Amino acid sequence: MGNADSALCKLPRVDDILDHPRLSALAGAPHSLARRAARQAVEEARSAILKGGAAPDTSADAIAARAADILRHKASPSLRRAVNATGVILHTGLGRAPLSLAAQAAVAEAAAGYCNVQVDLGSGERSQREAHIQWLCEEITGAPAALVVNNNAAATVLALNTLAAEREVIVSRGEMVEIGGAFRIPEIMRLASCRLVEVGCTNRTHLRDYENAITSQTALILSVHQSNYRIQGFASQVPVRELAELAHARGIACGHDLGSGALLDLRVYGLPHEPSVPESLAAGADVVFFSGDKLLGGPQCGIMLGSADLIQAMRRNPFYRTYRVDKLTLAALEATLRLFLEPETLPQRHRLMSILTAPLGEIRRRAELLATSIGEACAGWLTAQTKNGESEVGGGSLAGCTLPTVVVRLQSDDFAAAELARNLRLEEPPIVARVHDRAVVLDLRTILPDEDDLVVAALVRIGNLNQHAAA
Ligand SMILES: *Cc1c(COP(=O)(O)O)cnc(C)c1O
Repeated sequence: MGNADSALCKLPRVDDILDHPRLSALAGAPHSLARRAARQAVEEARSAILKGGAAPDTSADAIAARAADILRHKASPSLRRAVNATGVILHTGLGRAPLSLAAQAAVAEAAAGYCNVQVDLGSGERSQREAHIQWLCEEITGAPAALVVNNNAAATVLALNTLAAEREVIVSRGEMVEIGGAFRIPEIMRLASCRLVEVGCTNRTHLRDYENAITSQTALILSVHQSNYRIQGFASQVPVRELAELAHARGIACGHDLGSGALLDLRVYGLPHEPSVPESLAAGADVVFFSGDKLLGGPQCGIMLGSADLIQAMRRNPFYRTYRVDKLTLAALEATLRLFLEPETLPQRHRLMSILTAPLGEIRRRAELLATSIGEACAGWLTAQTKNGESEVGGGSLAGCTLPTVVVRLQSDDFAAAELARNLRLEEPPIVARVHDRAVVLDLRTILPDEDDLVVAALVRIGNLNQHAAA
């Protein structure tokens, strides 16, 4: 019998692995999952033997340890809370805006049982699901009617298709945006069955360019916010006010894809100016649409605002039925919008605004405390130093705008930076950080204040495991 054959004969059976103490310790996990994990671990050992090379550890203990890892992974939720240490405030990979406490509570409440998502409680009749947020949108932005869909990409398609199917839509060459993935204005136009008419140049477009492009086939002038890029230097675009005036004089509509959707003037909070929803409506745009999970700081959705007639036309479009949002999104959105009724309390009660307006002194204090705690708890294998840095707003908002921050840089002789960053991501909760200049960089602006201790605890566990492995 060859070496491989004898090793294969000695492989533990799946039942032996299932009975091993390492797996019995995870008795809470579903039995079918445990069996699958044990089978997978034995299979992996068998493949390793057949592949030859260095003899793998095929003891029952080693295979059971591997099975326990697989089981632990499969038995715990895959989508879960994570710590955003990246410094990108609206990080699409990490779910963009973190919800406020009020929105979290509203989601839990709506999820707990049935809810009145589309029933008018007074009459008992079927109602519109936007009824819950309609009045809030009007109160906050002045818009008479609102529609909510899955995201702003859907809102764009719905607006274009409703207002301009089989007709022409004029867009400036300076606003031919790609947001990421397949959201690119020319592709979206095709999807919505509209004919794109490009006017002007990349850096400059004039009102006369739009004027000259209007034909009997034109249905819409679309203004697209340059949310994730800037054209600097010899550059100009036509303001929405002038586009709306021109459109109305010629009997066509003016739409504004506002993207980031600031509900109020961010300068009040010491932030750079970002075109806001009320500004766009006041300028005369017939329909304004934007994301719910960018500067609004709510759940993923696309919000469309405009006259009652236009919004009703959008609602009747079959695309709307494919894009409408669920009760959990509406619950989170309503609670988030309510916070804007008291703008002066936003920095305290609105998570995203807290992050955007966090005073640098407070960030520095937390960074220094965190560096000290890590230095003490991980003495001997990890150094932690504070450094001034810059956080990015991200998510296609406030393009190119960074906010000052303080970061903690982690360096270790035991780990390459990328390896330490990977270990942090595999922690519970996962901690997602950047690697820069051979250090793991933790940005205290995006780590929520109640998460600082989680970071220390995760690093202590990583250090313990490493010492255990070395011993
Ligand atoms: C972000 C953005 C979109 C896409 O919004 P999603 O909510 O991500 O679908 C579309 N247009 C502009 C101008 C944007 O900034």
